[in-house]
Amino acid sequence: MSTSQYHLRCRECGKIFGNQPRSLCEDCFSPLEVTYDYDSIRPLVSRELFASRAPNLWRYRELLPLPEGFRSSLPTGYTPLLKAPQLGLKIGSSNLYVKNDAVCLPTLSFKDRVVAVALANAREFGFDTVACSSTGNLANAVAAQAAREGFKAWIFIPSDLEPAKVLGTQIFGAQLVRINGNYDQVNRLCSQIADEHRWGFVNVNLRPYYAEGSKTVGFEIAEQLGWRLPDNIVVPMAGGSLITKIKKAFDELTQLGLVEPKLVKFFGAQATGCSPISTAIKQYSNEIEPQRPATIARSLAIGNPADGHYAVKAITASGGWSEDVSDAEVVNSIKLLAESEGIFTETAGGVTVGSASKLIRQDRILPEETTVLCITGNGLKTTDVLAGQYEVEVPIAPKLREFEVLLENKLSGVPTFAGERPALTVEV
Ligand SMILES: *Cc1c(COP(=O)(O)O)cnc(C)c1O
Ligand SMILES: [Zn+2]
Repeated sequence: MSTSQYHLRCRECGKIFGNQPRSLCEDCFSPLEVTYDYDSIRPLVSRELFASRAPNLWRYRELLPLPEGFRSSLPTGYTPLLKAPQLGLKIGSSNLYVKNDAVCLPTLSFKDRVVAVALANAREFGFDTVACSSTGNLANAVAAQAAREGFKAWIFIPSDLEPAKVLGTQIFGAQLVRINGNYDQVNRLCSQIADEHRWGFVNVNLRPYYAEGSKTVGFEIAEQLGWRLPDNIVVPMAGGSLITKIKKAFDELTQLGLVEPKLVKFFGAQATGCSPISTAIKQYSNEIEPQRPATIARSLAIGNPADGHYAVKAITASGGWSEDVSDAEVVNSIKLLAESEGIFTETAGGVTVGSASKLIRQDRILPEETTVLCITGNGLKTTDVLAGQYEVEVPIAPKLREFEVLLENKLSGVPTFAGERPALTVEV
């Protein structure tokens, strides 16, 4: 695709910026967004064309900001859309689907999508070093894809991230900078560094390109539903980018005549301990009041969300709503999804399932409507939140007789574990 078919434009004043590593308008300081020449794209695309291509996110390349001649060998995206009847039975939906980005490649979260598109542009802009501020999953995705694509990588994280997300960055040989501060402070520092060093920060100066990668979640859901849009979609929110880009994806497919027009209701999900967007929705406000995050859902712990305002607009304009859940509800929802559908999600997925359950109980989502839950990350990265949830069984000898005794005890409810729960860490 030639670069003339997309360019950056200010979301508020409409000023055009061509293609360059920049995320804010120099006149009004509003965010920039990639826009396309849909009239020249329309004759190039069809359902059949997309379906004939390999099952990864590059199949939608006409609707992504990709430099001329760009070809990737990384098969990211095209994750399963699964019917979720058992979970549906438990939370009250008879037409429930899970979009399972817990198995997105290469690093098991939807952030692999945004990084794939950002790095395509980092190369085009001549960066040899890529970087990001991250709540964890972005760190993993940037580190892995930078290694594969031959970029140097600098990753900036709050110091309290889950051990698996720290290790899952270091393993790829990235430079990891741990910061004593929360994500919002890390992000502010990264904006300053981006002004001083010629690095491609995927979620700072490359943010408009990065954000387009999230649209592929929406394209895939529509295609996997047989080129139809769902009635409802529930999306976890950190910076609020994913939910607005899924909406953009549905709008683009409609505008290009690839799906029938339909008013999809967008529902946001947050952890109560960091819920600036859902709080604004519940207060019928357009203003985001920044919060200081305090939640186990670290991947969503952004207290001052860059796209919060646009997320509120997308949700309210669609007739949707937003909910938030406590840390205990996050853990219970992770277990509920695992036990009912065999999917092990991270804390963000617990936020989505728990919030969806509330929205159904509130009759905001009706049982027979087609509802998609976005599961965005993998549970093996956040096992620390499940510490103490399960008893450790006392091992038995490899003897049939011992097993028969164990079975008897289990069936009659006699405890078979050590008796004491594992010691809990005492806070001082
Ligand atoms: C980053 C992230 C989100 C939210 O993304 P935004 O686009 O910032 O709203 C959701 N789930 C997981 C697992 C994430 O890592
Ligand atoms: Zn502007």
